[in-house]
Amino acid sequence: MRIPTNGIHIGLDSPDGDVSFVSHAHSDHTNGLKRKEKIIASAETRDLASLDAQIVQIKNTKLLDAGHILGSRQLAIDGDGERIVYTGDISLKPNIFGWKADIPYCDRLIIEATYGDPSYVFPPHEDIHRQIERWVKENDKKNLIIGCYELGKAQEVVRILNGCGISPVVTEKTGSFCSIYEKHGVKLDRMVVGTDEAEEAMSRRFVALVPMGKAKRYFARRLSEAFERETLCAVASGWALHYRFNTDASFPLSDHADFNDLRYFIEESGAKKVEFFCGDGSALLDSLRILDGKAPKLIL
Ligand SMILES: [Zn+2]
Repeated sequence: MRIPTNGIHIGLDSPDGDVSFVSHAHSDHTNGLKRKEKIIASAETRDLASLDAQIVQIKNTKLLDAGHILGSRQLAIDGDGERIVYTGDISLKPNIFGWKADIPYCDRLIIEATYGDPSYVFPPHEDIHRQIERWVKENDKKNLIIGCYELGKAQEVVRILNGCGISPVVTEKTGSFCSIYEKHGVKLDRMVVGTDEAEEAMSRRFVALVPMGKAKRYFARRLSEAFERETLCAVASGWALHYRFNTDASFPLSDHADFNDLRYFIEESGAKKVEFFCGDGSALLDSLRILDGKAPKLIL
């Protein structure tokens, strides 16, 4: 999707257009952007996505916090008598780092609806942080592996574990994202698998973060045999609210807005036109219609 303004077109997480807005560094939002010479983005996003492009500022546009991962931003565009906001992925509840999305007033809103299903209402983040801390402490004689996405969620889990005095073992990829977080002022204690430091730590009880696909009981059993210590596995993902993973524990830690957050965002934005670029927003619009009888218009 692209939006015209000031005689140019801005691509929204897309290589279309004269300049591209990159909301954040998750790969589903950076497809085809390696070739781009000019982008609108935060410096953090450019680093995390390994983009060489020049960051430019366009008149009548403004970046707003998105609260999703390091550097994530929304874009507001003022022009032709209306304000357009594109959210990218957003999270409204403050995460472990205290980041949360701004809620801008706008006429036209282009918003994610990853959890646009009314059954997705997450508990407060603090409750989930405590669940993870409790599980880690209750199983302090066992090795633990926690599956999570390597950019964004992994760094949140590292910080939660640091709060328990634990420096987890992480993959090389997660470690390199952690280094970029640190470059931008977010301290994260972790050890990269294969280093002397991690090898030494893994001769005792350890906690490791693994890619989602590795967080399975069969992999934990293999580790139990290899390290001669019982190993439990868990996942940290918003999908854990309803989806059953093949793990010993699961924590519904999300870096996306849930159904109530999305509904609140749409209402507070005052938008008269709403478009969804991810997920199904029909339940959200139905819910707003029920609330006050004057729902925004859905454009597809
Ligand atoms: Zn994302």
